[in-house]
Amino acid sequence: MFPSTNFRELCHRHQLAATHQRQVIYETVTSLSGHPSPELIYEKVREKIPSISLATVYKNIRTFLDSGMLREVSLHHGSLRVEPNQRPHHHLVCIHCKSITDFDEAGLDPVRLRAKPPRGFQVQRIAVDVLGICAKCASKAAHKPRKV
Ligand SMILES: [Zn+2]
Ligand SMILES: [Zn+2]
Repeated sequence: MFPSTNFRELCHRHQLAATHQRQVIYETVTSLSGHPSPELIYEKVREKIPSISLATVYKNIRTFLDSGMLREVSLHHGSLRVEPNQRPHHHLVCIHCKSITDFDEAGLDPVRLRAKPPRGFQVQRIAVDVLGICAKCASKAAHKPRKV
């Protein structure tokens, strides 16, 4: 199996060598919903390439992130999560289970900086984290009597 034209073009644009392995990893990521961790991506990729190692999957995800072909969800969630959603959006983050839900950019008033960023800082995009408690965690908390 050879990398498809689309994938080859995409790699070419980002100056990456298009390999079959990379294509499988990339297509796996973009087919997943939510914000997959490298471990989850590895589990899925292994269904197609059983001999692949977690280290290889990690390395290729890094390469995709460095080249800009994929985006990282946010630097401050603690662990690496890959962002398959290419549309501009913000995130709803549950402070209990750390689940991350996409929130369409249109659902928030446009965010603008009122103060100038420190000299030399170039703003690329503004991403907002809306912190709260997800429905799952909220219903769990409602059923469990709280000890004081
Ligand atoms: Zn939660
Ligand atoms: Zn997202």
